[in-house]
Amino acid sequence: MNKFSRVAVYPGTFDPITNGHLDIVKRAAPLFDKVIITLALNSDKKPLFSADERLEMIRNSIKGIEQVEVARFSGLIVNFASKVGASVIIRGLRAVSDFEFEFQMALMNRKQNPEIDTVYLMPDARYTYLSSSIVKEVAKHGGDVERFVPSGVLDMLKKKCGTE
Ligand code: ADP
Repeated sequence: MNKFSRVAVYPGTFDPITNGHLDIVKRAAPLFDKVIITLALNSDKKPLFSADERLEMIRNSIKGIEQVEVARFSGLIVNFASKVGASVIIRGLRAVSDFEFEFQMALMNRKQNPEIDTVYLMPDARYTYLSSSIVKEVAKHGGDVERFVPSGVLDMLKKKCGTE
């Protein structure tokens, strides 16, 4: 990557990656020279899947999407972004309810490093109500989540939730 190339990071917990996350990745990929999906390890959330499982699910889900890579990080996302030469943080905005938290985080990240901006992308309308949490909740009770996650994730969910 030369110094004029545009690199973006897309941070999240991805517990697990859903079709909503993938929709954002596919929208971001053509806008940048490289998009690094970045698994946050220091989340307060107690993940259902281990970091290795989450990384594997991400890797399997993005096969064939060009210019997209995967990494893990702990610490401040702006520090990770600088380290990999990224000038943009990508986040998904589903509904107004996401806005308040995202607004706060974007401004705090800008205070930490004014050279890095956050770019928000809206998913296709059919994913606006989709979250990893709701997918896990439905899967845990044996519900059908096939339309909401990549096929590799569906298998992992069934294994984890004992609904195979
Ligand atoms: P975090 O713990 O950082 O919120 P998530 O994995 O829940 O991590 O989400 C990562 C990013 O992806 C966030 O910007 C979130 O708003 C976005 N996102 C999650 N689900 C969807 C979806 N269905 N459509 C669009 N964006 C989404």
